[in-house]
Amino acid sequence: MKNVWEKYAGEKRKQVMDFAEGYKDYLSRSKTEREAVLNAIEIAKDKGFRDIGEFSSLKPGDKFYVNNRDKNLALFVMGEEAIDKGMNILGAHVDSPRLDLKQHPLYEDNGLVLLDTHYYGGVKKYQWVAQPMALHGVVCKKDGAKVVINIGEKEDDPVIEISDLLIHLSADQMKKTGAEVVAGEDLNALFGSIPTDDEKTESDKVKKNILDILKSEYDIEEDDFISAELEIVPAGKARDLGLDRSMVMGYGHDDRICAYTSLMAILEMEKPARTSCCLLVDKEEIGSAGNTGMTSRFFENTVAEIIALCGDYHDLKVRRALKNSKMLSSDVSAAFDPNYPAVNEMKNTAFFGKGIVFNKYTGARGKSGSNDANAEYVAKVRKVMDDNEVMFQTAELGKVDQGGGGTIACILAELDMDVIDAGIAVQNMHACWETASKADIYEAYRGYKAFLKDMK
Ligand code: MN
Ligand code: MN
Repeated sequence: MKNVWEKYAGEKRKQVMDFAEGYKDYLSRSKTEREAVLNAIEIAKDKGFRDIGEFSSLKPGDKFYVNNRDKNLALFVMGEEAIDKGMNILGAHVDSPRLDLKQHPLYEDNGLVLLDTHYYGGVKKYQWVAQPMALHGVVCKKDGAKVVINIGEKEDDPVIEISDLLIHLSADQMKKTGAEVVAGEDLNALFGSIPTDDEKTESDKVKKNILDILKSEYDIEEDDFISAELEIVPAGKARDLGLDRSMVMGYGHDDRICAYTSLMAILEMEKPARTSCCLLVDKEEIGSAGNTGMTSRFFENTVAEIIALCGDYHDLKVRRALKNSKMLSSDVSAAFDPNYPAVNEMKNTAFFGKGIVFNKYTGARGKSGSNDANAEYVAKVRKVMDDNEVMFQTAELGKVDQGGGGTIACILAELDMDVIDAGIAVQNMHACWETASKADIYEAYRGYKAFLKDMK
């Protein structure tokens, strides 16, 4: 199979590289689901999308977004055909593995102040220690104020870290299995070490000093952590990888890489035949639960609202709009890694530089938890890709019984629409820093555009 880089030889290589610059900027600024959604809205507004609340009726060509609690976003471009004939939907998730602060996170231990965490999503805990981390999120106060926190990204910002045990004293630790080397409860981040000058404070003097800083710089009190969503994420920007700058290393490729490429695809739609939709959802990494995850009624409710705005509302139109829709559940695939070839079955493995990846099925232990797209639909997807000269590959997640994983595909399929998993191959998935190929990022974006434009 040809390499995508060969297709974009010479002059054409610039468009691949330029597209990656936009992605790197978005990824570096979008370290949480909230940041990913709010940054997506800003980009969409620049391209003429407006909040659905600004519309009293809808017509073909209208572009709008629906913001669900700043953590889940749906964007639409109304098509020429009635929406009950079905939509072409791209769906990706914007939450990524990280360490969430507990509700009572702050404590002092022998002159050090730490933040207690509860990890979010599937992580190899030993990957998250001894490196610079940032703190992102919101603190919601009783008076309704929302304090946005972002510490550790600017060059002169302080960072935080989860310490690791020195090798010199690791005799016992090194005998443990990988799952046990670092315990979840031991993921506590170092946050301060100067005692307060206040002579009235007799104990927890360092904690008092940290609380004073939080009060003066952010106007928050210790109790405000109860109603906060604060996430510890790797500090720093996404950057080029490889002497040829062919790859991007960054935090949260899974799945902001598909979110960004899907977003860029829908932003270019002008009055498509079928209504275009791009869903950016939260909570995929913990089972798509909650009112901002894919299992929420948010999407169905939104479709009902849109149909009401089209006039002549009937519930059957909602049902039909969903069942006649076609979807790409866009999520990352495991890229072949020469350091770990044993986990793959080479005929059905995704590679860097081979284009957008389609997974007919995902799942584990005999496809359990997968969507398993219908062959008829896979054939239609192939045709759209070939007609638009989009390079694609098909793959599954490793050898049979080596492990596995799931996506939002099966949740959309429950609404009676055709769905297939599609995405971009990534190395080091769920590590602090993940890697992807710029060629695949560009080709996925082209694939998503082709799907929105031509899928019937
Ligand atoms: Mn994912
Ligand atoms: Mn994941």
